[in-house]
Amino acid sequence: NKQLIFRDYVTGLPKESEMYVTTSTIKLKVPEGFHGVLVKNLYLSCDPFMPIRMSRVTVNGFSSYTPGAPLTGYGVAKVLDSRHPDYKAGDFVWGITGWEEYSLITPTEGLKSIEQGLKKIQHTDVPLSYYTGLLGMPGLTAYAGFYELCSPKKGEYVFVSAASGAVGQLVGQFAKLLGCYVVGSAGSKEKVDLLKNKLGYDDAFNYKVEHDLDAALKRYFPEGIDIYFDNVGGKTLDAVLLNMRVHGRIAVCGTISQYNVHQSEAVQNLACLLFKRIHMVGFAVLDHHHLYPKFIETVLPYIKEGKIVYVEDMVEGLERGPAALVGLFSGRNVGKQVVVVARE
Ligand code: NDP
Repeated sequence: NKQLIFRDYVTGLPKESEMYVTTSTIKLKVPEGFHGVLVKNLYLSCDPFMPIRMSRVTVNGFSSYTPGAPLTGYGVAKVLDSRHPDYKAGDFVWGITGWEEYSLITPTEGLKSIEQGLKKIQHTDVPLSYYTGLLGMPGLTAYAGFYELCSPKKGEYVFVSAASGAVGQLVGQFAKLLGCYVVGSAGSKEKVDLLKNKLGYDDAFNYKVEHDLDAALKRYFPEGIDIYFDNVGGKTLDAVLLNMRVHGRIAVCGTISQYNVHQSEAVQNLACLLFKRIHMVGFAVLDHHHLYPKFIETVLPYIKEGKIVYVEDMVEGLERGPAALVGLFSGRNVGKQVVVVARE
C-alpha cells in the first residue's frame, strides 16, 4: 500500500521536501471486528484547507494531523470489502480518505463533519473525479456561498477572485446562469483566457499585472460591485470594499493570500461596510451539508445539458501529490487540482 506521509506538523505553507512516499503490504480485506470498509482510492482532492489540518493547532473542528500517518483529505474511492451494512463491494464513495492506495474507513453517512462521512455516489454517469470538485465539497461551497449567502439577483454585478479555481469557476457559472454580469480575477494569462473563453465570465483580469487593483476594478465595474465572492482576502478585498455598491454582499469563502503570512495584512477600508451598508459574511461549507441533495438536483441537469463545464488539473500518481498540493499556494493549478491514484 503506497502512502504519502508528512514528516512533521506543517508550519506555514507545506513544502514538497516535507513529504515522502512509503510502501507496505496490507491484506485487501476488512479485519474482523472493524465495522467499516476497505476502499481503493481513485481520485484525491488537493484543497487549500489541508495544511491547516496538518498544523499543530486544532482549528474549528479540524482535527490535527499525526505525523507519520498518511495525509487525509477528500477523495473518491471504490469499496473493495465491507463490514458495514450500508456499503458493499463495488460501491463508489466520496468523502474523507487517506492519501494512499487503499484505506480502511469507518463511514458515517452524511458528512456531518470534515472528519467523518463517506457518501455513496448515486450518479456514476458523470466523471467520478467530479466528486472531488464540481459535485463534491468545492461545488457545495460555491453553491451555498453564492445562492444562500449572496442573495443574488438577475442583472447584478458580481466579482469573483481565484475565479478559475475549484470553487471560483462554479461561482461564475452560477452567476451567469442567473443573468448576472460576472468578472473574475486570476493569476495568469492562461487562466484569464479560460475564464473568458470557456467558463463564461463576461470579463476577467490578471491581478498579478494590475499595479492598482482599485483602478482595475473601476475599469471593470464602472457602476460598482453588488456581490463579491472572496476566495483570497488581503489586498483584493481592500480594493473591492472601495468599489462595492450600497447594500452589496460579500461572501468570505477563503483568504488564501493570507495563509502564508505571519501577520495578516491589515484591511484598511472596512469603513465602507458602514457607509455602503454592506453585508459581509464568512461561512464554512461544513455548516451547509444539508443542502447537498438540493445542490446535486440543481447541478446535475446543468452538467448533462452542457450548461455547466468544469476544468480539472489532473496529475497521475501519489508521487506527484506533494507538488500538486504545494502548487495550490502559488497558483500552479489550472482548475480543480486532482491527484489520480487509480482510474478504477
Ligand atoms: P483553487 O482551486 O482556487 O486553488 C487555489 C488558488 O488560489 C490558486 O490556483 C491561485 O489562483 C490562488 N492563490 C494562491 N495564492 C494566492 C495569493 N497569495 N493571492 C491570491 N490568490 C492566490 O482553490 P479552491 O477553489 O479549492 O479554494 C478557493 C478558496 O476557497 C480558498 O481560499 C479556500 O481556502 C476556500 N475554501 C473555503 C471553503 C469554506 O467552507 N469556506 C471550502 C473550500 C474552499 P491564481 O493563479 O488565480 O492566483
